[in-house]
Amino acid sequence: MDDYDVIVVGGGPGGSTVAGLTAAEGHRVLLLDKERFPRYQIGESLLPATIHGICAMLGVREEIERAGFVRKRGGTFKWGTGAEPWTFSFAASERMAGPTSYAYQVERTRFDTLLLDAARRLGAEVRQGHRALGTFRAGGRIGGVRYTDDTGHERRATARFVVDASGHGSRLHHDVGGTREYSPHFRNLALFGYFEGGRRMPEPGSGNILCVSFPDGWFWYIPLSDTLTSVGAVVKHESADKVQGDPDAAYTALIGACPLIGEFLRDARRATEPPYDRLRVRKDYSYDRTVLWCPGMVLVGDAACFIDPVFSSGVHLATYSALLAARSINSALSGLLAENRCFAEFEARYRREFGLFRDFLITFYELDADEGDYFRHARRLTSHHGAADEAFADLVGGVSSKDFSRKMFGEVLAEGVQLQLRGLLGDAAGDEPPMFPGGLVPTADGRRWRVPDA
Ligand code: FAD
Repeated sequence: MDDYDVIVVGGGPGGSTVAGLTAAEGHRVLLLDKERFPRYQIGESLLPATIHGICAMLGVREEIERAGFVRKRGGTFKWGTGAEPWTFSFAASERMAGPTSYAYQVERTRFDTLLLDAARRLGAEVRQGHRALGTFRAGGRIGGVRYTDDTGHERRATARFVVDASGHGSRLHHDVGGTREYSPHFRNLALFGYFEGGRRMPEPGSGNILCVSFPDGWFWYIPLSDTLTSVGAVVKHESADKVQGDPDAAYTALIGACPLIGEFLRDARRATEPPYDRLRVRKDYSYDRTVLWCPGMVLVGDAACFIDPVFSSGVHLATYSALLAARSINSALSGLLAENRCFAEFEARYRREFGLFRDFLITFYELDADEGDYFRHARRLTSHHGAADEAFADLVGGVSSKDFSRKMFGEVLAEGVQLQLRGLLGDAAGDEPPMFPGGLVPTADGRRWRVPDA
């Protein structure tokens, strides 16, 4: 039986991040994915923290910059009481202003493959076409994974840590104990497809995500290239009957009920090339878990939790939780810190970040408000002392956690940004205080935890 330090199940952004950052510490890491890449996934609109923080740590940021993805400077919303669309820009955030005030809209087939290749380059052994069947226990903890290989043979491999990064459809997440709790607030379903030739917003917002509410829910409109657009209807639970029957007819009717999206698509036609040639439906995707780890096993990304597509938090939470898990695994394997303490830090930071997005999104959906109300609410949630639109940009940009600001701006970015940040934040750009009393802080390279200096 093969033996590893870490087995990661799933090669999406969460799995590639944790595999890459543990392999980079010299550990023996096996990553299994049931699919062969490139494979399709939804979740195309990213946040700056993923590009400038995680991708930099994985050594893949330059490659992402060269890949020709559409640059996303913010989001444009026709939502709430305002008749006119309004826009937030990442550049409104003092912490993101400058060269990091953008993210990308990505074709996940290409983006996820770049991250998986990065994990392999950092030393992870990547096996595609390998499906995890379950975990097994050894010595009172999770001790390894049962899987079928690419010839259909059942195998077992042991590991000191198993990471479930197998996403929404995970079959392993129960093994840490506890339950998946579906949100009473978000019970939407999504019906989505792709168009060629849709309209673009004027510069500098042509790469923005456009979100438009309508009586049955809201639409996303994400430019993936000069001509390709991802168009998805997020439909309220109460309107679920509108998605019954023929999906094409339902999709066309929903677009017809949302005049702005209809206008943007006036001269467009449905994409015909795979994987964009068909409609897809997703439901039951808003949930949290009562337990996120147990001795020998941890959940990251959608295997653990997901809220809602509206602010593009999914890939951010997947890669952020993967970074926290990698720090915890690396620290525990080093023998310098106890497993319990490392994963308590993982859980506290992960729940805090998830909770911040969840609470803001509950208000975002419920408030029939104008943009000023949303900006002010973001300021209350983040205890931000600056301008309200800056708090909003920070929150939806995934940098409201000091942890990320430090990783993104303090260490992994160009010297110019470091100097700019130091000028703006002074001491805050240097050593980070613990996020919680008695908590741990990241090491200078960001790959492990340490006890803060007294
Ligand atoms: P995934 O990307 O799902 O990767 C999981 C991997 O595990 C897959 O490659 C799969 O093949 C593999 N796997 C599964 N089971 C097994 C097994 N048994 N054995 C081996 N491998 C296995 N997020 C955003 O950031 N922006 C958006 O605009 C956005 N829009 C969304 C719209 C909708 C309708 C939905 C539902 C979600 C959206 N998301 C968005 C969320 C985003 O899709 C996820 O949060 C993100 O993909 C999670 O990454 P992950 O690495 O946890 O899992």
